[in-house]
Formats: sequence, structure tokens, C-alpha cells
Amino acid sequence: MEYHYRCRTCGHLVEPYRGELNSGIKPDTPWEEYPEDWICPICSAPKSNFYPIESDGW
Ligand SMILES: [Zn+2]
Repeated sequence: MEYHYRCRTCGHLVEPYRGELNSGIKPDTPWEEYPEDWICPICSAPKSNFYPIESDGW
């Protein structure tokens, strides 16, 4: 089971296998390894504002 992470504020979806190229996160970086000061690229919410959701990988 894979987890994705959604921003409570703006709904931005983080898919760790894709990375977050706009903020310098490489693909396949596990969520735990995202820096603690990483912020949502859309609304600048902190990492703690994200909650995990299960993904089947569709
Ligand atoms: Zn956000």
C-alpha cells in the first residue's frame, strides 16, 4: 500500500514517487525524508498540515 499526502488547506496532493520538482524534492523521496521545513508549494502550509491517504496506485 502506498500513501499519498494531501494538504488540508488547499488540497494539493503529494505523491512521493513523483517528487516535488518545483521545490527540489527528487522522485521516490519518502515522505519521512522531506525536510521538516518543507512547505506546500501552493499555499505555503507546513509539512504538518498534510495528512496521509491510502492509494491503490491505480
Ligand atoms: Zn497547500
